[in-house]
Amino acid sequence: MQVLPILIPLMPGEPPASFASRLAWANGLSFASEFCTDQGFTLQAISDGDVRAISMLARLGGVELAQLMRGVVCKVSTGQYRLAGQLVEKRWITRRRLRFCPECVAEDIMADTAGGAAQRCAWHVPSIRTCHRHQVGLYDDESYSHSRGPHDFAGRIRDLNLGADQLRELVASQVSTGLEDYLTRRLAGEQQGTWLDNIGFGAVALGAEIFGVVDLFGIDAKLKHLSDNEKRRAGARGFELLSEGEEGLFRLLRRLHAEAGSPISLSRRNFGCLFNWLEQSHAEQYEPLRDLVRKFFVETYPIGEGELVLGKPSTSRRIHSVETLRRELVLGRRQTFELLGANGFLKPEGQAGNSAKGVVLDAQALAPLVKSFAGAICQVAAQKKINAPRAQFGALVAGGIIKPIAGSPVGRPYYDERKLDAFLASIVPLTTVAKADGLVGIQSVCRKAVAGAVDVVRLIQNGELKTVVRDVEQDGYLSVLLDPAEVTEALRLIRPDGYLRSTLAGFLGVKASALRHLVDTGHLKMVRARHPVSRKSVQVVPYSSVDRFLERFVPGKHYAEFLGGSTRKVGDQLIKERVPFIQMPEECGGRIFRRSEVLFGVEELANRLPLSHDGIAWPEL
Ligand SMILES: [Zn+2]
Repeated sequence: MQVLPILIPLMPGEPPASFASRLAWANGLSFASEFCTDQGFTLQAISDGDVRAISMLARLGGVELAQLMRGVVCKVSTGQYRLAGQLVEKRWITRRRLRFCPECVAEDIMADTAGGAAQRCAWHVPSIRTCHRHQVGLYDDESYSHSRGPHDFAGRIRDLNLGADQLRELVASQVSTGLEDYLTRRLAGEQQGTWLDNIGFGAVALGAEIFGVVDLFGIDAKLKHLSDNEKRRAGARGFELLSEGEEGLFRLLRRLHAEAGSPISLSRRNFGCLFNWLEQSHAEQYEPLRDLVRKFFVETYPIGEGELVLGKPSTSRRIHSVETLRRELVLGRRQTFELLGANGFLKPEGQAGNSAKGVVLDAQALAPLVKSFAGAICQVAAQKKINAPRAQFGALVAGGIIKPIAGSPVGRPYYDERKLDAFLASIVPLTTVAKADGLVGIQSVCRKAVAGAVDVVRLIQNGELKTVVRDVEQDGYLSVLLDPAEVTEALRLIRPDGYLRSTLAGFLGVKASALRHLVDTGHLKMVRARHPVSRKSVQVVPYSSVDRFLERFVPGKHYAEFLGGSTRKVGDQLIKERVPFIQMPEECGGRIFRRSEVLFGVEELANRLPLSHDGIAWPEL
């Protein structure tokens, strides 16, 4: 194949079909299609990006194939085209309509390169409406030549029969927008160093326009009803938002959400044409934009894991509404509100009914609550599950054997079924009997042994009873049968963690009346307990109270024991030294001094510790 006699330079950004059109004219043929056929290929093949045809054209025109391929338009998949190396949907490439910059065309036809006007790739892109080089609006010509087809650019320009002067009359000055500059540079192969470089060319072009339309003209705007200039402004605005990435988009989306009244469920209506566009633009290149909007939706609305958002399942829940939380916890609405209130997730005014309707909650912050309360059961259900009489259940809760879930609302405790199962397992009888002579249930044992349910249950849990059998007629707590005599015997060994008043008075070296005085003045406290032998209700001073008391005070008797003198003499000496002591009525007897003021007070206590309370309080057991 011969190089043609007359050669023309390839213009920057010129598509191969335009080059063919000019090469034909330079070599004396008016119709590019005729020229191509003569050379053994078709103009259609060139405009379709057929490499074989384009390499023949390159050889004929004396240009490098790689150069010629730069401006190629070719199909990459259904509906997806590559234009000068950039991905665009076919429907967003303008080829039939004649679009050009009058200045560029005027320059070309005035030049003596003989080929006529060269097309530029950028003119195929509807979102580019300004010539970057001349800062003039691109001119759209409505004419269509059936004899030439769409790709014979230089021929179509000649058919318009416009001289340079007439072309210049078409010039309308217009400053190119950020979007137009970006797209033009990107078509020319320039990297611009923003995150947008990594998403599809078409996604930037269309995304900018649609986000801008929504921002400037609202969600009900219809693209087809907007003028070209309005779309250009929209593109410019949307490009500013897109350039900021997530921040810019989220700002717009947050505004739309607020304008819709901050609803707590996602409705396409609130995002209008933006939602429709994202949903209907299936091409993969729009995915990064869809992903960002998806992220916003998931962070704004109560969308559960696996729920479809713009065609893709959400990977995790970020937001709960009261309703979605209620369903996850399997609780009633009112109970859910109570639970949220009790755990500080609702402001007080939000607790009452309707005003909490619009509440959304951070799923991450709720996670511990959900973990604790998912599948939780109420008190009645818990009692039923354990199968314990109400009073017994209450005693077990009061004694800390069965614990409601922490964070339960006041007056409405919830229970974890797994913990209740564990409790039942801890008292489960190992043997069963059909007829249990003399054996009775826990409740009866408590009555007969004058014991609390807590003490009896502890004996079972600690394996201290030989006879624990199951009544086949009953379930759970009620099925446990014990021998009351054995329980009574076992309970004798249980000492309360406290001193009887008389024992403690003896230990401190004071009279019983002094001890009463110390309790009355708050130096010591008393609690109810059961006497280990008589099982009668008695009052004891807890070991912990005695510990606290001895940290602050030293009885004269103790100090005398430490120094090795008589209690009376040591006491008199301290009084003489004006060491502060607890003032007590005359008849109380015995003296108690402020430990920090006693010379060897600290040493005395160190010498005495650790106190073996059980041995002192209950020496006979
Ligand atoms: Zn121009």
